[in-house]
Amino acid sequence: MLKVEFLVAGGIITNYKCSSKCRHCSYSSSPKWPDDYMTPDVADEIFSILKRLGCSSVHIGGGEPLLKPDRILDILDSAAKNGMDIEYIETNASWYRDEASAVNILAELKRHGVHTLLISIDPFHNEYIPFRKVKDLVRACSKVGLNVFPWQMEFWDEIDMLDENTPHSFDEYTKLFGKDYLLRLPAKYGLNMKGRAFVTYKPYMRMQPFEQIMREAGPCRLLSGLYHFHVDLYGNFIPQSCPGLAVPLKELVDGADTDKYRIFYNLDSAGVAGLAGLAMKEYRYIPKAEYAGKCDLCYDIRNHLVLGLGLDLPDLKPDGHYRYV
Ligand code: SF4
Repeated sequence: MLKVEFLVAGGIITNYKCSSKCRHCSYSSSPKWPDDYMTPDVADEIFSILKRLGCSSVHIGGGEPLLKPDRILDILDSAAKNGMDIEYIETNASWYRDEASAVNILAELKRHGVHTLLISIDPFHNEYIPFRKVKDLVRACSKVGLNVFPWQMEFWDEIDMLDENTPHSFDEYTKLFGKDYLLRLPAKYGLNMKGRAFVTYKPYMRMQPFEQIMREAGPCRLLSGLYHFHVDLYGNFIPQSCPGLAVPLKELVDGADTDKYRIFYNLDSAGVAGLAGLAMKEYRYIPKAEYAGKCDLCYDIRNHLVLGLGLDLPDLKPDGHYRYV
């Protein structure tokens, strides 16, 4: 059985849709996703299960959770009802229009138990969002008395060297800071190389023979992330560093059937070698000679199943993770 008995702190993904299509997004969020948002009933169910598992605080992320700020209030009420603290809400500031409307929204969030906004500050977001919106949102937070968790402050000066009123491409950053600017970012940012981030950086990764990956890659232990798991708007448990894989949280509590979630189970227990064996035997997967590491092989198989064969597999969810990368 796939079972979760204890969780400490994680995040709630209220929506995958986003105003931006950032190159580093491990969830592959973008404007193309359906306009789905977590319902109050799903939120209630998730919070009560998390509470039972020992988790008393979560952050809220997306997508952009404040694309439609009124949709989040019921979720916050549900958190309060279940004794769940909100550590912070992540936002990219794209929704900022003017001080008066922002202050109204922030004050409403505060009334619903939010104390901190994590505001994205990095060159990836700056490809879509003028820095002026970020600065204005920081100012509006201070007016309302909301804390700001700037993610990450060390990019502030670099972004601030460019015109704050428009977004800026990576070409502009490269001209200013050097050809290897994009390559220096993963270490500085602490990127999770999955989803679109993987696609962005794959051309720079070292290739490895298929046989070597099969020999060396161990189990992925997808259920071991007690501190930074996510649960999405569909009630799915998303392992700490591997979006695009999912098992409903309510099934994991009592033990989810390994035959129903074979992709997840194989990765968790036998790693990508287990998945590749299954895919070759049952899903006509033909391996290539080499891959940019074990996660490249993993994504190649998952893409084959979801996009190539068009299969609706319960543990490869949401399929937008593969479609909108
Ligand atoms: S091989 Fe697959 S499941 Fe394992 S860490 Fe990489 S992407 Fe995640």
